[in-house]
Amino acid sequence: MASEPAVPFVEIEALRAQQFVPAAKEALSAMIAERGQEKVVRPVFNWAGRNSLFPLHWGLACCAIEFAAAFGARWDAERFGVVPRSSPRQCDLMIVNGTVTWKVAHKLITLYEQMPEPKWVIAMGNCATGGGPFRTAYSVVPGVDKLVPVDVYIAGCPPRPEAMLDGILRLEDLIRERKE
Ligand code: SF4
Repeated sequence: MASEPAVPFVEIEALRAQQFVPAAKEALSAMIAERGQEKVVRPVFNWAGRNSLFPLHWGLACCAIEFAAAFGARWDAERFGVVPRSSPRQCDLMIVNGTVTWKVAHKLITLYEQMPEPKWVIAMGNCATGGGPFRTAYSVVPGVDKLVPVDVYIAGCPPRPEAMLDGILRLEDLIRERKE
């Protein structure tokens, strides 16, 4: 059996705004005619979701500096459609970097619960992924996945901005394959 054709949206990602709407309309009509509406809606939602991530930044220690660098002019994370927001109501991605303590755990969970579905979590750096050098301290959560589900782990103490960009691209791959 032949594999399904790729969603043609990758070809129109570089269009100007006034060219985008007619091109998108034409591509969607062709897809619906070929595959039926049910098989089109999910790929289109996945395409939109992976190209417009809005992270809520939980910067708790040194790794947050690398996160900030990734959004500066040199690494320019926004070129991947990632735009940090300050309200959890506007966010679909939580990026945790730094040492998570039990004292702030309930606040982190509350903010995660306030984010609308669908939502994802990236644990950036050894502290967020597993407690890092403070893992055995009584006050430190040994990994943010003890509090919320984590989709992508980024190792390093600290990870470089390139590693964070790689983590975002890995998350975009997960969203591309999303079925529900
Ligand atoms: S992983 Fe290392 S650089 Fe990152 S917050 Fe922990 S101690 Fe700091």
